[in-house]
Amino acid sequence: MVKIGISGAAGRMGRTLVAAIAHNPHTRLAAATEHQGSRWVGADAGDLAGIGTLGVSLVDEPETAIASSDVLVDFTVPEATMVNLALCRAAGKPTVIGTTGLDQAQRRELSRTAEVLPIVLAPNFSVGVNLTFRLIELAARALGEDFDIEVIEAHHRHKIDAPSGTALRMGEILAAALDRDFDTAAVYSRKGCIGERDKKTIGFATVRGGDIVGEHTALYAGLGERLEITHRASSRMTFANGAVRAAVWLVGQTAGLYDMQDVLGLRS
Ligand code: NAP
Repeated sequence: MVKIGISGAAGRMGRTLVAAIAHNPHTRLAAATEHQGSRWVGADAGDLAGIGTLGVSLVDEPETAIASSDVLVDFTVPEATMVNLALCRAAGKPTVIGTTGLDQAQRRELSRTAEVLPIVLAPNFSVGVNLTFRLIELAARALGEDFDIEVIEAHHRHKIDAPSGTALRMGEILAAALDRDFDTAAVYSRKGCIGERDKKTIGFATVRGGDIVGEHTALYAGLGERLEITHRASSRMTFANGAVRAAVWLVGQTAGLYDMQDVLGLRS
């Protein structure tokens, strides 16, 4: 039985993770945290998740939560993720990170920590999205320079970062497949008289609204035909089940920075 701690347990993903852990025969919720001052501290994690009392109250001390867990799963905000990462390192506890929007300095720190700690970092834990990553790479290689490639994503109104971590990962995969530098190729906005499309670019379009769980499309537009590869998530449970699967996989792995391609055995 793998003991899992959840950081951000009152959040949209946190609550779904609590339910996913409770329903998985190989896992047990060991601890659940929120930030200091959160109105949910002291509440039962199971009650919050709508699955009935589990006997695990939300705490605001991540050190204690990490100490009682085999692995920490973090879906919070980048600042909290970095604090948790340092605590996991000090305690020698592996961590699964789903938080998106980490800046370059934070990602560098994460890579340094992965030299001594097993970490899974994934912008998207759904099995379907991780298969999509492979499909868009294949399509980009097959269609080559003759097609213009754009990435379109849509999420709920509460999402704070844009484009989504998944869309950015799609862009990185497409740029690598086409031998382009991602930072140079990426175009995040277009307005006014900007001239014809530069063939080397990869454009991003972001939609925010309502309760959209997460939609991503890679669009390949050629002359006379257009290919679209789309993934639509209709429930957060797909991310939560993937993150729990990653947590179980991570316990016992050696230090390193892994992603869902490793967890699912999709890495070529
Ligand atoms: P959310 O509903 O806002 O949940 C985040 C939770 O973390 C909130 O309850 C927040 O509390 C809490 N929090 C903030 N600081 C904290 C701290 N220091 N310690 C513990 N908890 C803290 O957001 P969400 O939709 O669940 O998404 C969370 C993150 O996961 C985002 O970065 C999102 O993009 C990402 N995400 C990733 C995937 C994936 O598959 N990788 C899927 C979905 C979402 P307050 O609300 O009180 O601030």
